[in-house]
Amino acid sequence: MMAKHLVIGEISNGAFRNVSFEAVAAAKMMDESAEVVGVVLGESVASVAEEMVQHGADRVLTVESEKLKEYTPDGYSQVLMEIIEQEKPDAIVMGHTYIGRDIAPKIASKLGSGLVSDAVAIEGGSTFIRPIYSGKAFEKVAIEEGLQFVTIRPNNIPALEKDTGKSGNVEAFNVEVKDLQTIIKEVVRNTSTGVDLSEASIIVSGGRGLKSEENFKMLEDLADVLNGAVGASRGACDAEYCDYAMQIGQTGKVVTPDLYIAVGLSGAIQHVAGMSNSKIIVAINKDPEAEIFQIADYGIVGDLFDIVPKLTEEFKKVVV
Ligand code: FAD
Repeated sequence: MMAKHLVIGEISNGAFRNVSFEAVAAAKMMDESAEVVGVVLGESVASVAEEMVQHGADRVLTVESEKLKEYTPDGYSQVLMEIIEQEKPDAIVMGHTYIGRDIAPKIASKLGSGLVSDAVAIEGGSTFIRPIYSGKAFEKVAIEEGLQFVTIRPNNIPALEKDTGKSGNVEAFNVEVKDLQTIIKEVVRNTSTGVDLSEASIIVSGGRGLKSEENFKMLEDLADVLNGAVGASRGACDAEYCDYAMQIGQTGKVVTPDLYIAVGLSGAIQHVAGMSNSKIIVAINKDPEAEIFQIADYGIVGDLFDIVPKLTEEFKKVVV
């Protein structure tokens, strides 16, 4: 019998997070012949749901309710448990995001199922590779029987090319969302504009070397030219140069961009834990002995206040 893989899509500010499409690709990689069924929950999501089909899902189920406008563990688990019961999937795949990290273990444990979290690659369809010890090593994990839950790290498994010619196959799934135990009163978004840090393909990240909140603007200018996002070390956050939402590292966000530009940060082990798997790392630091140079692909030894504005000007000439 044909396997069935559910992919939980995530919407942010009215659009899919790219990791939703990467999860569709992962579900296909697990079994090329499986039926891939997208699931989208929210207040008004039906209009965008088709995009999951365009990225490779065979059909999409939508559940619309005012109670699902913001993520809550009880709202999502009620609905997802109902969908799992009716659809009887073999695997459930989603992004290793704040939502995925919260809901996947909750439901997997309710159902007594196996969970592979934070997968960065898939081998042979059923073996998942995930970083351990803060990215210093990788382990291979397989769930040998029963329903499999998998969360995938953003920016690691490429999404399938979008086929805008594909349409249809979006169905409303009827479920009554019972009263929630958690009521979200207000959501305060610190990073309402710009590129989402955890999914950015280019990150310009600053440390205590920036010396002030105003100087962080210099990083925004560089990130803007490159269509990237700005991140930070905890040193910079502790010094109040920027918001903790921007912190990268062991106790911050884990990122895997194509390009990570580390500016005026030393490369402490706790910072490196959140960015060492970036594809290309460029470090700018005035101290040639700074630890960040040990993991950098390209290093620039010098004063960031000279180098960053020059880089921004040069990139302006070549990036269109
Ligand atoms: P510093 O170490 O002070 O480095 C500043 C750098 O800027 C220096 O290398 C200096 O040479 C350079 N510099 C200064 N001026 C210039 C200039 N003009 N031009 C060029 N370079 C210049 N840290 C994180 O980042 N993320 C985490 O998630 C995290 N979690 C932690 C968890 C725990 C339990 C603990 C104990 C610590 C954690 N830390 C974390 C903190 C971490 O140990 C470091 O203290 C922190 O990363 C240092 O920040 P920094 O590199 O900005 O500052």
